[in-house]
Amino acid sequence: MLPLAEEIVKSGNHIFEHSRVVEIEEDDAYTAVTDGGYKVRAPKVILATHYPFLNKEGFYFARIYVERDYIVAIRAEEKYPGGMYINAENPARSMRNQVDKDGELILIIGENHKAGQGVDTINHYHALIDYAHQNFTVKDIPYRWSTQDCMTLDGIPYVGHYTSDTPNLYVATGFNKWGMTNAIASSVILKDLIVKGKSHWEQVYSPSRKTTASSIGKFIIENANVAEKLIAGKLSPLPEDINLNPGEANVLKIDSKRVGAYKDEDGKIYVVNTTCTHLGCELNWNSAERSWDCPCHGSRFSYTGDVIEGPANKPLKSENTNIFERVATDKF
Ligand SMILES: Cc1cc2nc3c(=O)[nH]c(=O)nc-3n(C[C@H](O)[C@H](O)[C@H](O)COP(=O)(O)OP(=O)(O)OC[C@H]3O[C@@H](n4cnc5c(N)ncnc54)[C@H](O)[C@@H]3O)c2cc1C
Repeated sequence: MLPLAEEIVKSGNHIFEHSRVVEIEEDDAYTAVTDGGYKVRAPKVILATHYPFLNKEGFYFARIYVERDYIVAIRAEEKYPGGMYINAENPARSMRNQVDKDGELILIIGENHKAGQGVDTINHYHALIDYAHQNFTVKDIPYRWSTQDCMTLDGIPYVGHYTSDTPNLYVATGFNKWGMTNAIASSVILKDLIVKGKSHWEQVYSPSRKTTASSIGKFIIENANVAEKLIAGKLSPLPEDINLNPGEANVLKIDSKRVGAYKDEDGKIYVVNTTCTHLGCELNWNSAERSWDCPCHGSRFSYTGDVIEGPANKPLKSENTNIFERVATDKF
């Protein structure tokens, strides 16, 4: 990536890092406004922010759902036979290998679920570790991580004009866990749309394409699921008095408010408002990654409330000191 970045800068273009865009203003051009208040103006803009964060146009929040998968990297007595594998049955498991300075790693992937809706998320790692032990003589498990990806209703990414009314605003999203290939396809399509005004593939990938009957069914199911999570999150009964161990968090009710409390390893408690700043769903605690995750659209926040992953682009509201102090002194 670095040589590519150097070429971009050498040819007179700019790369801005650590600059979260929170709004796109439109007049005779587009202006991307960052959370620091800086502005970048351009005649054409591509939104390639994984999940599109603009809600007012395109209704992407109703057409994309987010899935999370888990990965463990093991070292085994056996040598990996080479290749990449995925099983046909459920639960899905896929395998590949990677070599690092200490030798061969075998990557075992699986346990997918809708983001923010896993059970106790640490259990997903345990399931992959059990699978590793069933198939290999495991010597070590040096790494584990998880990631999430945007899924479209018909399995084809949304690449092209953001809406049919935005000729100079483009999007590339919904790679359905195949970003390495779909990102390349997207760049070819978007380059042709911008430079030539058309692409051979634009109708197939068009975000405004006609929805097929099967994807209408998926649309209804996914949006019913979002509505269910939105309502369930607001109505679920919450404990008012809980004990937390270091590294644990829970959602609780204090002074009629739904808040999330996390206790770090030193016993310090962090309290945040758990209403997602994207579209108002109630967040769930992800015990494996120690983050607050949205069950509706996949936004993620740290225990201090900072955005880890969009579409949300504003941090969680912090709770007032009274609540914080009372929780810290009375309840834990
Ligand atoms: C378990 C798993 C396995 C996978 N395996 C494969 C595989 O084998 N092959 C394959 O092809 N793909 C694979 N993928 C999929 C691939 O990793 C993703 O599809 C791809 O990374 C998504 O690319 P993206 O550009 O849409 O998003 P990202 O790679 O997330 O890039 C989005 C960028 O936008 C930035 N951003 C976000 N919001 C803002 C904002 N408001 N302002 C400014 N910047 C912002 C982010 O910081 C980030 O840099 C896998 C995915 C999963 C979950």
